[in-house]
Amino acid sequence: MEAVWAQPGRPAQVGGMDIVRVLPTRGRRTIGAWCFVDLMSPDSAAEPDPMEVGPHPHIGLSTVTWLLTGEAVHTDSLGTEQLIQPGQLNLMTAGRGIAHAEQAFARGPFRGVQLWVAQPAGTREGEPAFEHHGELPQADVDGGHATVMVGELGGAASPARSDTPMLGADLIVEAGGHTLELDRGFEHALVPLDGAVVVDGVGAELGELLVVPEGRDELRVELPDAGRFLLLGGEPFGERIQMWWNFVARDRDELEAAWRSWRDRDDRFGDVPSALDRIDAPRPMWLPEPA
Ligand code: MN
Repeated sequence: MEAVWAQPGRPAQVGGMDIVRVLPTRGRRTIGAWCFVDLMSPDSAAEPDPMEVGPHPHIGLSTVTWLLTGEAVHTDSLGTEQLIQPGQLNLMTAGRGIAHAEQAFARGPFRGVQLWVAQPAGTREGEPAFEHHGELPQADVDGGHATVMVGELGGAASPARSDTPMLGADLIVEAGGHTLELDRGFEHALVPLDGAVVVDGVGAELGELLVVPEGRDELRVELPDAGRFLLLGGEPFGERIQMWWNFVARDRDELEAAWRSWRDRDDRFGDVPSALDRIDAPRPMWLPEPA
């Protein structure tokens, strides 16, 4: 059985907001189909950045928006306008192309997690879609409880779409050692949101990712204090993806085509109802400068 390991995330900015990106990370591009995990957790609690991400496009992935505090409004090129609050799930599937904007609704403390899920060959060129789940199933787990965002845990199954076998859950557990049942065919990661987690003597805290390779049907998690963490998992994603900007594809030609569509405002992505400024794509670094 492969050993667990932990890795610090790295600070980045999204739409002017400070975030910590814990996936992808050095040595690990995906956990199942999960390919991107940003913690929107301002270090400067006195002056948290508002989430204001203007219209921008996606292809080949689903976005999962999961708030811890605050509220936000999602709008997209399908005509969706959706308020999201903590405990609720926004799941937007890009397929061949969608554009959206996200804006914090009320000023004040804002914390959340933005995750991406890579779509497999069978759906990644399909139609875009959006789901909002106002209530999600709760599961009892050893030492606490879980909200099941995607997949199934502790006998509770989320109604949310998933294109490959996967799990996403938010666990709140008391201090001590707890045993979680896992799907042996999944690889997993723990994303601490509050407090530290320790597995096999390897610890991780907020801003870090704890990777649990496949092949375990249970996991012993130690918490020095009561805490909260995301448990992400899935069958290892068998397709090699290329990520650039807001796109998940398989090669540069696909990335470049999506970049051109957004730049040229052709009909691939459509318009987003939003008062925020449209976000321009940077020029792909592999393209020669125009003469
Ligand atoms: Mn987005």
